[in-house]
Amino acid sequence: MARNKKHRFKKVLPVALLLVIFSAGMLGMNFFKAKADIKNFSARRNANIQLPHENLTAATTINNSNKYIADNSPETEFWKEDKIEEERMVEEKAARAHQQANPAIEPIKPAAVPQPAKPTPQPVQPVKKPVPAAQPPSSPVPASSKPLPIGKKTVYLTFDDGPEAFSGEIISLLDQYHAKATFFMLDGNMRKYPGAVKLMVKDGQSVGMHGVTHDKTKFYASSQSVVGEMNQAHNTLKEISGVDSRLIRTPYGSAPLMTPAYKQAVAQANYLMWDWNIDSKDWYYRDQRYVDSVIGQLQKNPGKGGPVIILLHERKETLQYLPKLLNYLESQNFELKALNSSMAPIHF
Ligand SMILES: [Zn+2]
Repeated sequence: MARNKKHRFKKVLPVALLLVIFSAGMLGMNFFKAKADIKNFSARRNANIQLPHENLTAATTINNSNKYIADNSPETEFWKEDKIEEERMVEEKAARAHQQANPAIEPIKPAAVPQPAKPTPQPVQPVKKPVPAAQPPSSPVPASSKPLPIGKKTVYLTFDDGPEAFSGEIISLLDQYHAKATFFMLDGNMRKYPGAVKLMVKDGQSVGMHGVTHDKTKFYASSQSVVGEMNQAHNTLKEISGVDSRLIRTPYGSAPLMTPAYKQAVAQANYLMWDWNIDSKDWYYRDQRYVDSVIGQLQKNPGKGGPVIILLHERKETLQYLPKLLNYLESQNFELKALNSSMAPIHF
């Protein structure tokens, strides 16, 4: 028995030794790999940290220098990484608190301040762009039955959510530029400013409906609610101005809330639903950036051969920078026309 055991042990010994050597090797490799990973991570982290304060920079420097003083045994190294990270976090927190208490000194993270998506700043084009080739014959009937003079491009300004107390100012500005536009109006605002509605019609502007509630949940509740709101606004518009308009724009545009069934319902009710292909985002920018935004989009051939429809709102800020937009359009030889019922509406 004893001899057998010894014999077996002799046979097993080299295998066991091999295993031990192999395991040691793997352990060693893992250790170096882990160490390398930590180094990489530290490097990345250090690169990413925006040092918000001088004190923190100093502290980090000290930490970084301490790191290499003591022994290099793996445990110490791991422990030190943790410790350094911990200290850094404490210091960062302290620096943050300090700066929150003294906001005038320096913003903590200037990069984190939310900024509205900047429209690519497009200078008001001083150079006249070459006039593009005539529109393809497939484009919808233009607002005027007269053929467009060569070199004239047409845009359709549309103003939603009105009328407002200052609608008259928008209209007289449009008049100064011999421009026509289209107003998609809310029932309540038409009742509030009937004079503005009459003025639009008298001035030859186009008028259309934008519903009653402007509430996503209520307006888009069913095809009955969609058509019902448009009918109510239609009747109000007719009552005030005598105009039997078929032009509508649904709140927030037709996508994604207008289902195929809703679209069918408005078509059956004989409404012409208009979306847009240039969103000025005037409600968002609330300053002249909306004009730059429109100019930038205009330069990208938004109509693709069809009518170019610009979405604006009856807002004070929109009116304030409207001359800038009108100046640009005039300088670029654009003609500003109103939508009419003979045109094929565009959708998203
Ligand atoms: Zn609206």
